[in-house]
Amino acid sequence: MMMDKLIIFDIDGTLLDAKGAGRVALSRTFEELYGYRDAFEEVDLTGKIDIQVIREVVGHHGITDFNLEGFNAAYGRTLRQVMAKTPGIKLLKGVREMLECLTEEEHYFFSLATGNTKVGAKGKLEFLSIGHFFKTGAYGDEALDRKELVGVAIDNAQRYYQKRFDKDHVFYLGDTPKDIEAARHNAIVSVGISTGGFDYEALKGHGPDYTLKGLEPLETVLEVFRRGGRPIE
Ligand SMILES: [Mg+2]
Repeated sequence: MMMDKLIIFDIDGTLLDAKGAGRVALSRTFEELYGYRDAFEEVDLTGKIDIQVIREVVGHHGITDFNLEGFNAAYGRTLRQVMAKTPGIKLLKGVREMLECLTEEEHYFFSLATGNTKVGAKGKLEFLSIGHFFKTGAYGDEALDRKELVGVAIDNAQRYYQKRFDKDHVFYLGDTPKDIEAARHNAIVSVGISTGGFDYEALKGHGPDYTLKGLEPLETVLEVFRRGGRPIE
């Protein structure tokens, strides 16, 4: 019998390339709401999830009347405007085909674990018309770091789908070493995809269960999902 599989996706660099529109929109939202031009200039953003970035900027500039709900609403609007004007935003190769194919299979279930805020994730996925594939997930405004995010993504998916997934059949697909670490921390299957900021060898060096050059050919990806947590050397 085929086991139920939970496939959790990172967004940026894994499913799509937003050409930095998220960060541009975050910065512009700070400008619109608080008047700070280039709010991120003096803040180190590398590897941080959106809420960490937002909190750092708030702290750095000593913003005392910050309201996350209001910020998110403004960010959602600004993100749509920025994306509409940013050339080259696209799904990565094979993504739509994979989502369409697995949606047809009764044993596959999807989730998200992303540093994007919920508004940001939704905005990016809907802009590229893949929002409808995702009914549950964990977002950058729900947890403090990526390890926690992946744990929350699993819990939320189990609650949403009313199923318990065997950890050898729960996968986290991401494009950075932090994604690989987060999967390992949660004892699920880590799949490094070299379509983002790290090349294949660099990702492989971090010891994920699987390393892929992208989400095509589809057959290669399906083979990983069929095997699950016990890769054959
Ligand atoms: Mg990523």
